[in-house]
Amino acid sequence: MTREQLDCFLAANGLHAGLDGVLLAPEGEQVGAATLSGEGTLLVHVCEEGYRQGGDEVKAWWPEFRSAWMIVKPDGETEYGDTLGPDQVICDVCNAEVTIRPVPVGGGGYAHCRRCFGDLGLPFPGRVRPYESTERWRPVIEVNGGGLN
Ligand SMILES: [Zn+2]
Repeated sequence: MTREQLDCFLAANGLHAGLDGVLLAPEGEQVGAATLSGEGTLLVHVCEEGYRQGGDEVKAWWPEFRSAWMIVKPDGETEYGDTLGPDQVICDVCNAEVTIRPVPVGGGGYAHCRRCFGDLGLPFPGRVRPYESTERWRPVIEVNGGGLN
């Protein structure tokens, strides 16, 4: 992860970096850590807490940069979709934008908005209580001449 990607990840998830690269939720819960490798690459570790409910895994997800989709063809070739930012999460049940963090994932591995997760009647996974994250990551658009005319 680059420094810019880490900044976007933190902003979109409402997290901040504390001393020694510790990653903290708004109420101070540690959710991960970032360390600089010898090659200058940022290594980011994030804990996704959860529990098992019957055969289902319910977890608290901190979205990162990822591919919108992946297809593995019969010949073994793999295709990837566009890159989604950590702020780009859609509820797999109702298609609403998911604005809470962490994002509850359950019911067969699906991301849920607050309302749809509530409909499952399950306890929220992890120690961090869900909160609204309003920061949105957008690609930087360079404008020559200082205007959009
Ligand atoms: Zn929903």
